[in-house]
Amino acid sequence: MKIAADMHTHTVASTHAYSTITENCTRAAEIGLKALAMTDHTTAMPDSPHIWHTHNLRVLPREINKITVLKGAEINITDYDGSVDLTEAELKSLEWIVASMHKYCLEPTTAEEHTRGYLNIAKNPHVDVIGHCTTDFFPFDYEKCLKAFKEYNKLVEVNESSIRMKKGSAQNVVPILKLCKKLELPVVVNSDAHFWTGIGDFSVSLKILDEVGFPERLVLNADWDRLKEWICEKRPNLNL
Ligand SMILES: [Zn+2]
Ligand SMILES: [Zn+2]
Repeated sequence: MKIAADMHTHTVASTHAYSTITENCTRAAEIGLKALAMTDHTTAMPDSPHIWHTHNLRVLPREINKITVLKGAEINITDYDGSVDLTEAELKSLEWIVASMHKYCLEPTTAEEHTRGYLNIAKNPHVDVIGHCTTDFFPFDYEKCLKAFKEYNKLVEVNESSIRMKKGSAQNVVPILKLCKKLELPVVVNSDAHFWTGIGDFSVSLKILDEVGFPERLVLNADWDRLKEWICEKRPNLNL
């Protein structure tokens, strides 16, 4: 399986990442990707860029080095009631939104509460992807939440960085993928790269997908046209 678009990437705007958007796109072009989503952190994260970063994304061209650039964000789930760290207008202005639980912005508690948090975030119409929901920090009821993600048209992320570096992710992703397969719930495979060499490197994730016999038709970003159609259906005014 080959992935056509890396839909979770960071730039120097998040200070714990070390490459520019141009460097990331250059790498993406080199390895044959078609698109990339720039998803820097939003304000609840300690080293996130100033909110003006999110407000000014329109200055970026649609294409950099022939790579289609989606102007997105990785937003923070800030409580278990469905709150996030961007306003409605800011959410509406973005072209791609990954929503994640980070222990720096949200105190981990019980599996019941994490489940309630994911069930609430599923209902947010602006969110596209549930980010790295595989770590040991935030266990939750997979069956309940994945059914809600399916119902509200949310994608589940297979996050290469998390699988490589975060405790539990490489194990927890397996039952999640099996359930996605059973529910016909699409996933996206993303690098979450914090340096340009990580852009488009999905090797460990792809190996796991292969091992669980995950069907390519449910990997939305294995085909850029298919993903583009999904995004444009959700955001009819977007010209990709
Ligand atoms: Zn994250
Ligand atoms: Zn990230």
